[in-house]
Amino acid sequence: MTSTTTSRKFNFSAGPAVLPESVIEQAQQDIWDLDGTGIGLLEHSHRGKAITEVFDETDALCREVGNIPDDFEILYLQGGASLQFSMIPMAFLNADRQADYINTGSWTKKAIQEAQRFGQANVIWDGKEDNYASLPSLDSLAWNDAATYSYYCSNNTIYGTRWKRTPSSPTPLISDMSSEMYSRPIHWESHDMVYAGAQKNLGPAGVTLVAIRRNLLEQASTDLPSMLRYDIHADKGSRYNTPPVFAIYFLGKVFDWIRTNGGLQGIEAMNERKATCIYNAIDDSGGFYTGHAAVEDRSRMNITFRCPSEELEAAFIKQASDHDMENLKGHRSVGGLRASIYNAFPESGCRQLAEFMGEFARTHG
Ligand code: PMP
Repeated sequence: MTSTTTSRKFNFSAGPAVLPESVIEQAQQDIWDLDGTGIGLLEHSHRGKAITEVFDETDALCREVGNIPDDFEILYLQGGASLQFSMIPMAFLNADRQADYINTGSWTKKAIQEAQRFGQANVIWDGKEDNYASLPSLDSLAWNDAATYSYYCSNNTIYGTRWKRTPSSPTPLISDMSSEMYSRPIHWESHDMVYAGAQKNLGPAGVTLVAIRRNLLEQASTDLPSMLRYDIHADKGSRYNTPPVFAIYFLGKVFDWIRTNGGLQGIEAMNERKATCIYNAIDDSGGFYTGHAAVEDRSRMNITFRCPSEELEAAFIKQASDHDMENLKGHRSVGGLRASIYNAFPESGCRQLAEFMGEFARTHG
């Protein structure tokens, strides 16, 4: 098996996104022959011994690395993070119930739209006035005691905002952590459910990681199709039907990679350094670059910024690509540029981008 490192580019994609190279190399071997079983990872029965061991290992590492309390169930579900937008209200809302939502942009907007199908979704804060560049201050939030749950997205991938501190709601708190899960420690005491589509910070597309407190899980509706019932997935160890074995295997290896890189504390410190280096390039550019997100709400995973004109942005993307830096185009709702630098994105790539930004601003400013 040869390493492909030299031909790999710096991939700033928002997701699917860069993954740890050591894990990709290990996966290449295990696809051929899993642990000397003579059968490849993708060819084993999901109920056999080898894959049961894969599940057990992923579970144990997920709990250890994330410091997940014992009263949380870990589930591996399908349908992407988007299915959680509807599975959550289907489980916990009905025509007589309400839930609180904080709208920090596209991903929460979609979740709100789904919730409205099943019950009353109270939008207790909405950031649309400044195109979701900022987040609410924690003490300004007017939660409803009558809500069945409260919902927010901890990092908005598109706008590049993240909650620095965890909100605390009087009712069970649910968070979409798709674009930052395991980029920093999670404040479990404040949460009752967190979930993440894997394809940004955790592994390949195809699995959604859910951690849900048993108390909340017990309140989920059972009057639903089996595939939409949290309790069934929990009772069956996420193997009610054929699960995405490869993605679950990969998660386990990524958790192990996090562990050997200092755990969530180590990863957080590294992410802080990486993001600071690029934000400094924005702030030190004498106004050439403008960041989209408010300074105090800046994401450590998705850095959104603009050049003085769209023409310059197009030139930036082209020239960055000539220097092996790919996927820097911003999402259409914000425009401009976006550098997604998830856990596995190398620090050297952040330094290279920052240097390039300085050079580009000097030649075009
Ligand atoms: N939530 C957030 C924060 C996201 O960034 C995304 C995808 N970019 C989603 C949800 C939707 O994820 P999926 O495509 O897995 O449904």
